[in-house]
Amino acid sequence: MLTMEKLIAFCRSRGFIYSGSEIYGGLANTWDYGPLGVEIKNSIKQAWWKFFVHEDKNSVGMDGGILMNPNVWVASGHVAGFSDPLMDCKSCKTRQRADNLISNSKQGKEIDPDAMSVEELEKFILDNKLVCPNCGKIDWTNIRQFNLMFKTSRSAVADVENTVYLRPETAQSQFVNFQNLQRTSRLKLPFGVGQIGKAFRNEITPGNFIFRTVEFEQMEYQLFCKEQESMDFYNEYKQKANEFYTKRLGIKQENIRFENHENLAHYAKAAVDAEYLYPFGWGEIGGTHHRGTFDLGNHQRDSKKSMEYQPEGAEKFVPTVIESSHGCDRIFLATLLDAYNEEEVSPGDTRVVLKLKPNLAPYTVAVLPLQKKNLTEKSEEVWSNLSKHFSVTYDETGSIGKRYRRQDEIGTPICLTVDYQTLEDNTVTLRDRDTMEQIRVKIDDLFTKIASII
Ligand code: ATP
Repeated sequence: MLTMEKLIAFCRSRGFIYSGSEIYGGLANTWDYGPLGVEIKNSIKQAWWKFFVHEDKNSVGMDGGILMNPNVWVASGHVAGFSDPLMDCKSCKTRQRADNLISNSKQGKEIDPDAMSVEELEKFILDNKLVCPNCGKIDWTNIRQFNLMFKTSRSAVADVENTVYLRPETAQSQFVNFQNLQRTSRLKLPFGVGQIGKAFRNEITPGNFIFRTVEFEQMEYQLFCKEQESMDFYNEYKQKANEFYTKRLGIKQENIRFENHENLAHYAKAAVDAEYLYPFGWGEIGGTHHRGTFDLGNHQRDSKKSMEYQPEGAEKFVPTVIESSHGCDRIFLATLLDAYNEEEVSPGDTRVVLKLKPNLAPYTVAVLPLQKKNLTEKSEEVWSNLSKHFSVTYDETGSIGKRYRRQDEIGTPICLTVDYQTLEDNTVTLRDRDTMEQIRVKIDDLFTKIASII
């Protein structure tokens, strides 16, 4: 079975992901994407952008700043309410989330801590004698609400007035720019705006590799529509999320499920999380949220700028928002886990193969000269021509069998071998990653052949 430990070791050794600031002993729960990881992550973002923005004629994109006027976060409710309930263990001095203590306990299996007040959380933990998961003792402080936004200061002198926040979600720049976006793109309702970018949350219990980190990337799409049509769009975008995960990224349907939020925010008509079955259990990868007029309405109230839309010949109104929100790093993790296979090629001989969709693989083609002698020049020529069209790697070290396995492990869909016959008849072999079958192809036909395979 593929455990998280095995996957982390695999990612580190092959260059998908490294621990952050490793040579200084690291910084807990920070990770850097290496050469192979960045290629996959970029491809996931491109696939998302294509699907949500480019393939929809009523959609546009934007790229907002990480730092925003602090009033944005007051209006959005993050300053007052974006917090986790925390308790300290007085015995071992670790900090724990009260809601997680309950949902991870056997007494709390049927309980939904999100629906409980601070007093109810505290009472449940004490009545059920929930112990500290670190030291096993029961010696809790009271619960304190801990805001998850990272604060920083804009000038050399830190004071309250200069406090700015690192955005905890990308969505707010789509909301505060609503009028700019609508006016400059001349779109009529319904229309949507996609955005991909970094978000930051001071998570108290980060973990599970890149699943929960303090710095991560979101891909968020906000659809602005009329209230009357909003539930239809909500259902459509829920389906669309599923299609993105399974059809565009190739994640197996049985590993995806949708869980409705039981306790809706007061302004929301519906909300659903999409979850992936990770080795540590089901975990959220994205969500579809009916946000009503909450965001635009609050920004209108606080900024005193109209957030209304004026239809032709009708009353103006504040549009309703349907949000399709996705975590890029969690999706990366799900995509990798889902693609990872260990296959017995012959008795006692197992290969690791990443069955990524060809458009997500770090490299589409690996050019492999059968031997260095006399074949390098021709191989480099093939590599150079193909690299103008595809993502191509080049490897001439080790036996050809070992090189095939190296490419299988990193998901390269096509291995191209240049051999002595190539010098005679200008043909090469193409080997398919999944079937391992080989065909002979003329160099002149390579572009068409590779394009048809991927
Ligand atoms: P969770 O309940 O797991 O903390 P959330 O409901 O707070 O997540 P949202 O606010 O809906 O998450 O954010 C949208 C998406 O951003 C999530 O579905 C997830 O994929 C991603 N995300 C949120 N928090 C993190 C994090 N700390 N690390 C990595 N990705 C995250």
